[in-house]
Parts: sequence; structure tokens; C-alpha cells
Amino acid sequence: MTCKDCGKTIGPQQYKASKDSLGITLCERHSKLIKRVILDNSTPLEAIHLFYALKEAGVHPMLEWWDGKKSVDIAISRVKLNIEIDKDYNMITHEQAINDLEDAMHSFKNGFTTVRIPHLAIKYYLDETVENILGIISGLKANIKAI
Ligand SMILES: [Zn+2]
Repeated sequence: MTCKDCGKTIGPQQYKASKDSLGITLCERHSKLIKRVILDNSTPLEAIHLFYALKEAGVHPMLEWWDGKKSVDIAISRVKLNIEIDKDYNMITHEQAINDLEDAMHSFKNGFTTVRIPHLAIKYYLDETVENILGIISGLKANIKAI
């Protein structure tokens, strides 16, 4: 087994520890780093899973990227794409809903596209979610060229 981040070989104990706590295979150092990110930003686990799936697909995502105002779950800077993972829809308040829309508007004005992905899509359809994001990235690339 190897670390999904650095490719370092990891033992069965570390494999089990990181699989149990994070749901992915990471070495001790990267488990610690990711857990620190989660603690600091209350990053949903689905964001971590999507981050590594995108990495595997050859995208260069950034985890918890600070855009000057807030931390974005995943950012793909080359095409100015921000990805936010929506937690439980039932938990969202009306204030949160309008704040999210306002945030999206501000990012859009700065040339960033914000996509909100429900955590369930990542949990149950990770491959399809990655496929769709790859499609969005190529669409954005085409738009950048057109300008
Ligand atoms: Zn590692």
C-alpha cells in the first residue's frame, strides 16, 4: 500500500489507521497534515476524497484555498474554479443559503466560477463527480481561449 499523496509505502497498521479515520490511504505525515486541515477549516471528508480523486485524474487542485475573504474547499486556480462541498441540505439555514449565493456572486465578479457539489454526490458517485468536474474544467479552458 502506498500513500495517495506522496507515494510512500505504508505498513498495514498505518493503512488501517488512515483508512478508518479518513477513508483514504495516507502515510503518517500526510494523515497528520490532512487532519490539521480538517480541524482548522472543518473541511468535510468528502472534500478530501474529491481532492485526491481530482489529483489522480491529473488536475492540480488546492485544498482549503484562501481567496482573500474565505477558505474555498477546493480550488483549481488554472481555470479559476472554486468547488464548495455542500453538507447536509436539511441543516442549511436561510441566512447560510443567501450568504452562499452572495459569496458566489463576489467570486464571479472576480472571474471565479463557483460550483457547489452535494456531499452525497461525492460519497456515492465519486467517479461521475470527477468526470463532470473535468468537463467543467475543459469548458472553462475553452472560454478562457475564446476571450
Ligand atoms: Zn504521504
